[in-house]
Amino acid sequence: MKNLLVNLVDKNKKYTEEGFLASYIPALLKANKDDLGIYVVDIKNNEEYWAGECDVKFTIQSISKVVGLIIALSDNGRDAVFKKVNVEPTGMGFNSIVNLEIRDEKPYNPMINAGAIVTTSLIYGETEERKLERILNFIRRATNNEDINVNQEIYESEKETGDRNRSLAYFMKSNGILEGNVEEVLDLYFKQCSIEVTAKDLARFGAVIANDGITPWGNEVLMSREVCRIVKTIMVTCGMYDASGEFAVQVGIPAKSGVGGGILATVPRRYGIGIYGPALDQKGNSIGGIHVLKNLSEELELSIF
Ligand code: GLU
Repeated sequence: MKNLLVNLVDKNKKYTEEGFLASYIPALLKANKDDLGIYVVDIKNNEEYWAGECDVKFTIQSISKVVGLIIALSDNGRDAVFKKVNVEPTGMGFNSIVNLEIRDEKPYNPMINAGAIVTTSLIYGETEERKLERILNFIRRATNNEDINVNQEIYESEKETGDRNRSLAYFMKSNGILEGNVEEVLDLYFKQCSIEVTAKDLARFGAVIANDGITPWGNEVLMSREVCRIVKTIMVTCGMYDASGEFAVQVGIPAKSGVGGGILATVPRRYGIGIYGPALDQKGNSIGGIHVLKNLSEELELSIF
């Protein structure tokens, strides 16, 4: 496995030249464009394998949408969550506002910004600090890494430049989808996007999802089987922005990407996979990462379909 991963990173590194770094906030442009790493946790024997840049920290960004969904479902139950957010792919950009007005009042799914702002608003906690603590604690347990924290510089930039998210949130407040204090919900959303992880952290998180919500290293239950099933399903249909259909055909495993260059992927009952490659393709997915996952899926026959 180790050799396979090294070969796949070597072979696909060239694609990073064709990609571009996310630039909507200056801090993200500091990443090394040609970094590419893959980390795999084999849950059957609890072995870990990696190649490339797997200890570089980057912000979790949209992958935090998976965390928000898991906690919102665990806190509220599926009926209450899906009363506020749908589960259909959009075919629109991740921060599109148009569907909210013309198609349906509810956001299309929890993997686009509007839907994730809603799931974040549903997380229980007496104070905003407590809610953030719950998100951080969840990620720390799911990655077996106590050092997980928010990158303050990125959080501040997210907040300063987050006008599109602000408009989505206020629009949803106006039609009753979003309740409570909009600025507080947004603040929590910006913080959750700014949590720093590595490819190794994402692989461990993927391993928990692959193992039906239970940590393979400590047998700790982090979510119910039911929540885990729902989350995997939505990752397949909506996890890779507007390229989710193509990714399902080419790779065929539940995954969620973020503009920080991370991909969280999970092969049910087999592997947790974490990718880092900050050079993105046109759809906002790690360009080298997608190629590595495609090759890995072909080599090991990972497609669930
Ligand atoms: N913080 C970003 C936003 O909400 C997340 C973007 C992403 O990873 O898709 O705009």
